[in-house]
Amino acid sequence: MNDTKDGHGYKIGAVVLAGGQGKRMQSSVQKQYMMLRGKPLIVHTLEAFDRSAVDEIVLVTGVGEETYVKREIVNAYGIAGVTAVVAGGKERYHSVYEGLKAMPDCDYVLIHDGARPLVSEEIIRRSIEGAIHYRACVAAVPVKDTIKVADEQGFAAATPERSRLWQIQTPQAFSYPLIRGAYDVMMADEKLQAGITDDAMVLESITEDKVKLIEGSYENLKVTTPEDIVLAEALLSRREKLREASAKQETEIQV
Ligand code: C5P
Repeated sequence: MNDTKDGHGYKIGAVVLAGGQGKRMQSSVQKQYMMLRGKPLIVHTLEAFDRSAVDEIVLVTGVGEETYVKREIVNAYGIAGVTAVVAGGKERYHSVYEGLKAMPDCDYVLIHDGARPLVSEEIIRRSIEGAIHYRACVAAVPVKDTIKVADEQGFAAATPERSRLWQIQTPQAFSYPLIRGAYDVMMADEKLQAGITDDAMVLESITEDKVKLIEGSYENLKVTTPEDIVLAEALLSRREKLREASAKQETEIQV
């Protein structure tokens, strides 16, 4: 166990999801393969995990896309940490389950939307530490807007207190046996699957375990609609400039 990358001796896996249709993007190219600053969107996501302390990455794709993705994404961009490419399913939770089944011997697992290419190594590190410390954690940021609950006719019915509202992102990170056990129970009973949109909900509905909210980032956006592409490009470009500036500074100090 000492050859793991995290320094704790635990085996850490990541399930990266790219099995969605991305219908809200209204584009002929699926959003996970759209080019962002010269690379397919999903490559930015995979590179962040590849640079992190995660030991193995399982990439979940659409049915029938596995061979193409292995060749054109994983091999073409040299993502060494990807140990399996598996086909997903109809809903996000079906895809997650396929990913979990492909990494049965992990101690902890991070589940991440492939459509969040701006995930940083810092957030991945916090997620791993959160999973080890709390057994279940999700990246989150405080909501900026006032949120209202609407009634069935579209009238404002309630205004929850904003200071207690959090926007939930991924990674969502867990003890592997804990989340795998909860998914096994949920997948065996269709009634438990209604309305499930994230992994924390699976735990909340099946176990007594609490899910800790850890610090995410407003940059860690999910590329969903066309304007998100513009934002993601701008944020990646700013990161590149910051990286170049700090590399230049380092060279100047050395000289
Ligand atoms: O649809 P949504 O935006 O919630 O999707 C979040 C992530 O889950 C995306 O990266 C998408 O590719 C993935 N997904 C999946 N399988 C599905 C639906 C979504 O892998 N059936």
